[in-house]
Amino acid sequence: MNQSSAGHLLWLIRSGRASTRGELQRITGLSRSTVGQRLDQLFRAGWVKESAGDPVEAPTGGRPAVRLRFDVSHGVVLCADLETRHARAAVLDLGGTVLAEHSGALLINQGPDEVLGRLAQWFALLLEKAGLAPGAVCGIGLAVPGPVDTSLGQVVQPPIMPGWDRYPLVDGMRAAFVAQVGEAGAEIPVLVENDANLMAYAEQREGFPDCSAFLLVKVSTGIGAGVVVDGEMYRGFDGAAGDIGHIRLSDHPGALCRCGSYGCLAAVASGRALAEQLTAAGVPTASGSGVRDQLTIGQPDAVRLAREAGRLVGGVLATVVTLLNPGVLMIAGDLAGPPFLTGVRELLYQRAMPRITTYLQVVTSRLGERAGLTGAAAMVVESLYAPDRADERLSAMQ
Ligand SMILES: [Zn+2]
Repeated sequence: MNQSSAGHLLWLIRSGRASTRGELQRITGLSRSTVGQRLDQLFRAGWVKESAGDPVEAPTGGRPAVRLRFDVSHGVVLCADLETRHARAAVLDLGGTVLAEHSGALLINQGPDEVLGRLAQWFALLLEKAGLAPGAVCGIGLAVPGPVDTSLGQVVQPPIMPGWDRYPLVDGMRAAFVAQVGEAGAEIPVLVENDANLMAYAEQREGFPDCSAFLLVKVSTGIGAGVVVDGEMYRGFDGAAGDIGHIRLSDHPGALCRCGSYGCLAAVASGRALAEQLTAAGVPTASGSGVRDQLTIGQPDAVRLAREAGRLVGGVLATVVTLLNPGVLMIAGDLAGPPFLTGVRELLYQRAMPRITTYLQVVTSRLGERAGLTGAAAMVVESLYAPDRADERLSAMQ
């Protein structure tokens, strides 16, 4: 990282490490005039603003300094969070505030062409609703329910996304967007990431910024986990870290999983599995969100099954938390509620060492249904304004 570039100064401002010209000088060791030149680049780009009406009190009691801020309104990002039967899309400013949002049925098993085409239509409508031109869009972020190789921008062997294996998602999304908005979309960066990873990223930044090892487990149609270490998503060797739903349990050999195997954790303890079990018990339930509705009204079979599912997931998590030693274990998704958490805790405390669980906080989601979108927006912004990338973009503007 070039410690004196405009991109680096922007990073200092965005991360809250510096908020005045004086602080930038002190941290970087640059002269007043060099800091001024770098800031002029950032002002010209519209990325940073400085307003006299927003002073920073000087610690020495001297003249208050003018505050520098990242201008979160100079562009927007378009994000979508894809579930198996449903999707949520939004246009957000660069600070992650939702400006317009749409959610609706969208079946992931219709395949990428159909789904990305529909998403692009939603994106165009969202821009219209927010009164924005396509040129305001800096990037697109997608959260998908499968393992993503981010270096390729592809989902790889996704258990519950038939037809998506190794599909060129970045080019496909961009082409679908161009079909809606024309050439204004031709150069737009598209980033794709696993949904649980993005939820973990967003929840850690929002609620537990000081937690250096954060684990989120999403239990909806499937079961997946996201890990954030020192503020960064942990993806593993090639993007498959956290796909715990297809660990096979030894005592459920007859349970057929959507991945084709038998006895997977997701085949017995996911929202989909519980919907089937509830239906078999005489409580017709179509999906994970249906199970959530039954849990909300305290339906006794749903409560019993959710607690049992929590125990099964907790048994697997005993190994996971022993390996990772997280400070926070967050349970998110359709089943995240008291019965499921009780089950998780029972097995976790029974099977993992006290050394691991004594200070472990087991909590439920804070951001709820927007966690995936919020994480996708943060991923795009962090990527576009990372120091090296910011410098590249600034020099391309000159
Ligand atoms: Zn499976």
